[in-house]
Amino acid sequence: MSTKSYVIGFPRIGEQRELKKVLEEFWAKKSPFNKVEELASNLKKRHWEYQKKAGIEYISSNDFSLYDNILDTCIMLNAIPKRFKELKGEELYFSMARGNKNCVAMEMTKWFNTNYHYIVPELSLEDTYKLNASKIINEYNEAKQNGIKTKINLIGPITFLGLSKRVDDGDTFELLSKILPIYIELFKEISKLNEVVTVQIDEPLLSKDNETKILDLIKPTYNDLGTITNNIKLIVTTYFEHSNEATKLLVNTPIWGIGLDFLYGEKNLQTLKEIANNNKKLIAGVVDGRNIWKNDIKNSLKLLEEISIIVPKEDIYISSSCSLLHIPYSLKYEKDLDKNIKSWLSFAIEKLDEINLISKIFFKGLEKLTIDEQKAFIENIKSNENRKTSELIHNKKIQNRVKNFAKLKRDGDFEERIKIQKELLKYKDLATTTIGSFPQTPEVRKSRQDFKKGEISYETYEKDMKVYIDDCIAFQEECGLEVLVHGEPERNDMVEYFGEQLNGFVFSLNGWVQSYGSRCVKPPIIFGDISREKPMTVDWITYAQSKTSKIMKGMLTGPVTILNWSFVRDDLPRSEVSKQIAVALSDEIDDLQNAGIKIIQVDEAAFKEGYPLRKENIKEYEIWAVRDFKIAVSSAKKQTQIHTHMCYSQFNDIIKTIEDMDADVISIETAKSGNELLKIFKQVGYKQEIGPGVYDIHSPRVPSVEEIIKQIKLLLEVLPKEQLWINPDCGLKTRKYEEVKPSLKNMVEAVKIIRKDYK
Ligand code: GLN
Ligand code: ZN
Repeated sequence: MSTKSYVIGFPRIGEQRELKKVLEEFWAKKSPFNKVEELASNLKKRHWEYQKKAGIEYISSNDFSLYDNILDTCIMLNAIPKRFKELKGEELYFSMARGNKNCVAMEMTKWFNTNYHYIVPELSLEDTYKLNASKIINEYNEAKQNGIKTKINLIGPITFLGLSKRVDDGDTFELLSKILPIYIELFKEISKLNEVVTVQIDEPLLSKDNETKILDLIKPTYNDLGTITNNIKLIVTTYFEHSNEATKLLVNTPIWGIGLDFLYGEKNLQTLKEIANNNKKLIAGVVDGRNIWKNDIKNSLKLLEEISIIVPKEDIYISSSCSLLHIPYSLKYEKDLDKNIKSWLSFAIEKLDEINLISKIFFKGLEKLTIDEQKAFIENIKSNENRKTSELIHNKKIQNRVKNFAKLKRDGDFEERIKIQKELLKYKDLATTTIGSFPQTPEVRKSRQDFKKGEISYETYEKDMKVYIDDCIAFQEECGLEVLVHGEPERNDMVEYFGEQLNGFVFSLNGWVQSYGSRCVKPPIIFGDISREKPMTVDWITYAQSKTSKIMKGMLTGPVTILNWSFVRDDLPRSEVSKQIAVALSDEIDDLQNAGIKIIQVDEAAFKEGYPLRKENIKEYEIWAVRDFKIAVSSAKKQTQIHTHMCYSQFNDIIKTIEDMDADVISIETAKSGNELLKIFKQVGYKQEIGPGVYDIHSPRVPSVEEIIKQIKLLLEVLPKEQLWINPDCGLKTRKYEEVKPSLKNMVEAVKIIRKDYK
């Protein structure tokens, strides 16, 4: 019987990160490729079975990938950059993703506003595209052999072009006339399967604000794709926001159904009429595919009832809001989580049951369910009730302090502060510094791990860290850097380190989520009101300061970055959670300055990634994100210099917001763009000081003195030396000391030479 339950896509890395492990072994030439293939088959089979067992009707094939599904789409279209043309098979595939001896990898960038990264296709007018359907057809058949009839997932042509770049100048959308015929051919291939096949085309690009030029492509594209064969049921899905402009067009094409995200795109409710009037099926995304909270089933049913006033019940399907790729696998490995907290959570496998249960209640009615199903519903109601009132989460004292927090900005304006700071800190023009972390050596990693596992005492651990800090400082002094850092040896990760010390956070044991390729992250879970128990960084930083007469820069992660790299509770607005973090950080800053730290850097690496997809929501985000950065640093006295760091270089559309954050110094990632991207700072009359990265730390290459001189001269064409700091473009933790030492020496040397010239 049809359950009308639907999953947009399933994670693929494996619940024990099996795919990661086998890929990395293969890349290290420790296992042959057929090991990878064998594992991939096993994983797919297991994932299909999980879904089938949970009663999901619409299970995907081609949601699996050995690296990334945009990369897979490049292979499907034969969109292969020239430099890789000699290669074949897995060598070609992984070289495109990771580069090889002769060819640089294709670029990688963030998938909409998630922390997943995809490979950016490189297209050109002169390339010939041709169909390679083998992965798609094989995976479909593979599932069938396992007794599962899947829907076929594809990345839509409009989204594919929107995410691509042209290597010959020009607009990527011009290439639709070359790409669409390949999709048409693919559909013909699929129709040869000789049975009715559901094809899900993902078009998340349509959830953004699109120019008419792009919206105009919808009808011709889907009129074509919808009429090729009558044995394809074509579904177009969007997610992460509403797609109202596109929905109105899509309903007038011969597609079978449309998938909408009702959680992150509430406004999708506004197009239900169009969907109903045109008799389209509605894949209703009501179970959160991006967050890890148990669904509030009573609420979801209410939402579905509301939808079914307009769209007939028989046309509705119950779905995840997006692919479950963005959440971990299963709670079954979480042996250490607090029992209560665990009862509020639901990872991918648990969400399958939710989708199924919602669909059963919605379509059959509660009376018709089995006793176990009824029990599951009651459990769900109970745990949602319990979460609403639990003392673990709700702390009146914190809420009141945050609500009444009155210090919304620092004392003094920038001009006044910088004058005091320059007098007191006596740093030169073109002052040299680094972004914070130094190479994480095997010894330091081991010590941290051993300490975590309880294998060494705190004393031993502390001693190890201090040895690292001593060496790190000795090197910086020897090399002549002017504002020093302690090197961050005690931090595994810039968010985890703070999450572990703040109330309101928990960590899973196995909550891994794919970030790109084989790389996974394990985001902290913010479950409750946030507060600081005691100073988090003061001991390390003051120890470091005691070892040098130079200025030691304190190092913190900012509220917006902590928020954006965590799973955030969904019972409070994100802005509230961010404010709680900010208040906690303001205490830390106060403690640092009272302990004698004169410069404090508050990293906002993820400030830009938190931007909403839709313009209509940007203002609001900017207001609270800036507010919370300012709250975090509000405790800083006029003489305490506040730095911030951001891991990107495109500031054109957000420069005024960055200025409003009112940091005294900002370091940014301009190393790869010469001085082009810096010009915006000059154009808007940005007053604060800036440290544009003078070399790229993402590559092991050691930049020469001449090269850095050239780069600094370019910077000086745009901004006066009084306004500039000189630093690498990001933290050094992923590099090796052998690369970092000569690079920093060259950087300091370059500044010495330039200073002579510019006397
Ligand atoms: N202070 C951090 C470091 O140097 C900043 C890293 C980042 O912004 N990604 O590692
Ligand atoms: Zn950075």
